[in-house]
Amino acid sequence: MLKSIVLKTSRDKSILQKHPWIFSGALAKVPAGLQNGETVLVRSAEGHFLALAAWSEHSQISLRVWSFDETTAIDQKFFEQRIGQAVRRRERLGLPAQSNALRLIYGESDGLPGLIIDRYADQLVLQILSAGAEYQRQNIYNALQNVLPGLPVFERSDVDIRHREGLKNRRGTIAGAEPDGPVEINENGLKIWVDVLHGHKTGYYLDQRENRFLLGTSAKGKTVLNCFSYSGGFGLSALQGGAAHVTNLDLSTDALALLDKNMVLNNFTPDRYTNVAGDVFEVLRGYRDAGRQFDIIVLDPPKFADSRTHLPKALRGYKDINWLALRLLKPGGLLFTFSCSGLLEAPLFQKIIADAALDAGRSAQIVTRLGQSADHPVLLSFPEAAYLKGLVCQAD
Ligand code: SAH
Repeated sequence: MLKSIVLKTSRDKSILQKHPWIFSGALAKVPAGLQNGETVLVRSAEGHFLALAAWSEHSQISLRVWSFDETTAIDQKFFEQRIGQAVRRRERLGLPAQSNALRLIYGESDGLPGLIIDRYADQLVLQILSAGAEYQRQNIYNALQNVLPGLPVFERSDVDIRHREGLKNRRGTIAGAEPDGPVEINENGLKIWVDVLHGHKTGYYLDQRENRFLLGTSAKGKTVLNCFSYSGGFGLSALQGGAAHVTNLDLSTDALALLDKNMVLNNFTPDRYTNVAGDVFEVLRGYRDAGRQFDIIVLDPPKFADSRTHLPKALRGYKDINWLALRLLKPGGLLFTFSCSGLLEAPLFQKIIADAALDAGRSAQIVTRLGQSADHPVLLSFPEAAYLKGLVCQAD
């Protein structure tokens, strides 16, 4: 028998609109003895059934909805259905044809809050981010192996946000052999090594795939400055598109070492690229003082804001790098600028770029607006799933 959590009067509005989160302030009655992650019935103050959800004891997001249908059993079959559905959605979009690396499960958007599953060629990587998904993990492991049999699965549940859910980090092999090094994927015809054991996220930034491809289409004969390069992404795409020269810039020497291997893997000769280990904020100032200019500049920084308290500092950071980049662009040059901070909404991001241009004394136009790849879809009832935004600006 599932226990029930009752909401306060008229706090059922968002859940009736199929939003999958309920915050702690909306709860009227929580039964004693609930386990962290346990499935509960959510009821309105009037006692009506609203949803089946997972209880998160330590988070501000107290409940994450598994189903709005009272007859659903949250068991292995349920996860098989949802995982199967998500895989088929991506197949219908023809996504595997672009790349053999893609996000198969994107949490709430695929009806599976707190669960990420990425596929890198024949290697699956799984990440559990919420108490509810953690509670169900054996069902999830089993379901995944039934839907996609025979593929090795590695778990990378080693991210800080798990602490907010009262969960410790976990990493290790779930099925098959542990990868013995980076996994080779193919993205739009580029070969790329992905470090699923130690790399960022689950190993690679799949969310930027379509934007990397777009950059490639504008890069012929151009000089490109690829800031926050990680393992090469945009730089590889630029060279594939015929760029004359790419400067890759990142703080992490591990990332640059992998980038170098990726350049070799694609037979890009060292005269076509330079790798610089350094801080974008400092290196760009150096380039400005030296009067260096580029045809195309990519700014793909890490998340500067992970909480509202950090937002003002993050905004200054975004403005600073964009101001610098705009000063380094040749007349007619293109700026590909991104923010992956979900807390920074698109209109404010655009305003920051506008302010940066004003301060840099450059007139520029937005020519394309960008978002996250189609394997990171945004469920209409969960707009929070949209986090990556980008602008391509042409400067006069
Ligand atoms: N564009 C990449 C992903 C970038 S992730 C792709 O398409 O795959 C962000 C990267 O920024 C990380 O590799 C991190 O090491 C780097 N980074 C973070 N802060 C930095 C700084 N201040 N200067 C330079 N690199 C930084």
